[in-house]
Order: sequence, then structure tokens, then C-alpha cells
Amino acid sequence: MITFDPDLDMLPPRLESPGGAPVWEFQRLIVNPLLAIIALLGVWSVFRYSLQIRNLPLFLLSLVLAIVCPFLIQYHCVDCGRLDFTIRARRHACLHVVRRMRLDEDPPFPALSIRFQVTAWVVMILVAGLMYEIMATGFR
Ligand SMILES: [Zn+2]
Repeated sequence: MITFDPDLDMLPPRLESPGGAPVWEFQRLIVNPLLAIIALLGVWSVFRYSLQIRNLPLFLLSLVLAIVCPFLIQYHCVDCGRLDFTIRARRHACLHVVRRMRLDEDPPFPALSIRFQVTAWVVMILVAGLMYEIMATGFR
């Protein structure tokens, strides 16, 4: 008895290689946090302004906006050039990725995982912010 009806069941097919490896092992993605950084700078200015004028709704709005900022991190696919949000990266399967998946071959160069790239960007931004704070307050 067939239980799957393509007209009624809208689940997308699961992307896996014949060996069972997930799709992200065959992707070559580069994280692009520029949009999130720009949004975070705006949130920071709203946060400081809300503290300056002592406005609680504006303060809470800045906290909510700060929670939204990580969702603005984007990725760039080296194979097809697509730019999209990172929360949808696990579903990205362009022609090159699907070909590598079907043939079960490795990418031409080992790509760094998205989690590692995001962690590296966060560390770099924190170090840059710390250096800025030291330079701004150190010479007064
Ligand atoms: Zn692609």
C-alpha cells in the first residue's frame, strides 16, 4: 500500500547522498555577515540612545532587534553564486552540489562549516570591538 500522495503530501524530498551523507558535506559556502553587522550597529545606536533618554519601550525594542540580527547572516555559494540567509543554507542544493552528492565525490577544496565561519566572525567582531574600546578610552 502506497502512503505517499504527491498532491497531498508536501514534504520536500530529503537531500542525502547514496552513502547517506547530508547535503552540507558537499556544499561550498562562504558566510557573509555584512548585513547583520550593519543592523547590529543600528541596534547598538538605538540601545545607547534608549539608555540616554531613559525610554523603556525603545530599550525593549533594541533588545528584540538584537535577537533578530543573527538571522540576517547570509551565505554565498561558491558554485552557483547564490546569496541567501544562513538559516536556509542546509536546504541549498544547486546543480554542482547535487552532482557531487550523486557521484559521492568530495568538493574541490575542503570547505569550512558554516558554524565555524560564524564563530570566527563573532570572535573577530568581539576582538575588533574590544580593540576599539581600548583605543577610544586608552588615550584620554
Ligand atoms: Zn550553489
